[in-house]
Amino acid sequence: MAKEKISLIIPCFNEEESIPLFYEETNKVSKKMKNVDFEMIFVNDGSKDKTLPILRELSKKDKRVRYISFSRNFGKEAGMYAGLEAVTGDYAAIMDADMQDPPEKLIEMYEIIKTEDYDCVALYTESHKGYNFIRKALTNCWYKLIDKISDSHQVPGARDFRLMTRQMVDAILDMKEYNRYTKGMFGFVGFETKWLAYDAPDRAAGTSKFNLRKLIKYAMEGIMAFSTTPLLLSAYVGITFCFIAFLAIIFIIVKTLVWGDPTSGWPSMACIIIFVSGVQLFFLGVIGMYLSKIYLEIKHRPVYIVKETEKTK
Ligand code: UDP
Ligand code: MG
Repeated sequence: MAKEKISLIIPCFNEEESIPLFYEETNKVSKKMKNVDFEMIFVNDGSKDKTLPILRELSKKDKRVRYISFSRNFGKEAGMYAGLEAVTGDYAAIMDADMQDPPEKLIEMYEIIKTEDYDCVALYTESHKGYNFIRKALTNCWYKLIDKISDSHQVPGARDFRLMTRQMVDAILDMKEYNRYTKGMFGFVGFETKWLAYDAPDRAAGTSKFNLRKLIKYAMEGIMAFSTTPLLLSAYVGITFCFIAFLAIIFIIVKTLVWGDPTSGWPSMACIIIFVSGVQLFFLGVIGMYLSKIYLEIKHRPVYIVKETEKTK
């Protein structure tokens, strides 16, 4: 019987220090897993350092190493998508280049997917090492929120590191949207996923590519891609305000009939007007955000643009 193959997808953005470490570790693991073939698909996401030359070298040296190099930085989501499209194996795993997703774990993950009835084995972390207090607190709140307002269940602390079957990869690829939020997509497509807890180690080298601004953008993308609750919220707030206004009208009529009508209350009126227009503009902004997503979606722009692969070089 032919050997099964695992395709590893590794999005890389300025990872010149991490890639050699990652390759070495994965190589060791592949020697331990003699019954499977490996394929490593590195996606160079517009790195400005020596990532690309390193990948060229590696792919010359080792035929199992493939790479896809983008024409500029398209973001990790685009990197994962390009990798998934290139997969030729029976299983695929998405991994970070920085060793926070230890290749060693693949042994256990493959064992589970082979022997138990799962389509996917995914990892989550409870420790969030290397995150400061604010990032930890925001991350926790965000997972609670997204779980409440969307159909796509997301495990708190879930990483992108997961081993999945070809069938699941195809299901993800069938989702052709431009605004990709892979964490939500995994939840959306269903299939049986086994969750393993682990302590994510610190980055082996280099620095995190996600600053607070990028993370907030990522979190908003997640909400907009999998929930329409913010759009409905304006209707709820509108109804509540109408109700309050109705009570206020009754109060004013009764007050005028009982005590007469001394003309007063202009400052409070000004506050109310400013408050209500603020709320209206806020929800106009929410609608605008969804509209901008639709706008990008209907343009059908490519999610990424490839400049070079191991085949074109
Ligand atoms: N990454 C990428 N494109 C980007 C940002 C990040 O391909 O625009 C890659 C990065 O090289 C790494 C992975 O995504 O392999 C996770 O990034 P990072 O470790 O910086 O994120 P963190 O672990 O801090 O959340
Ligand atoms: Mg990392």
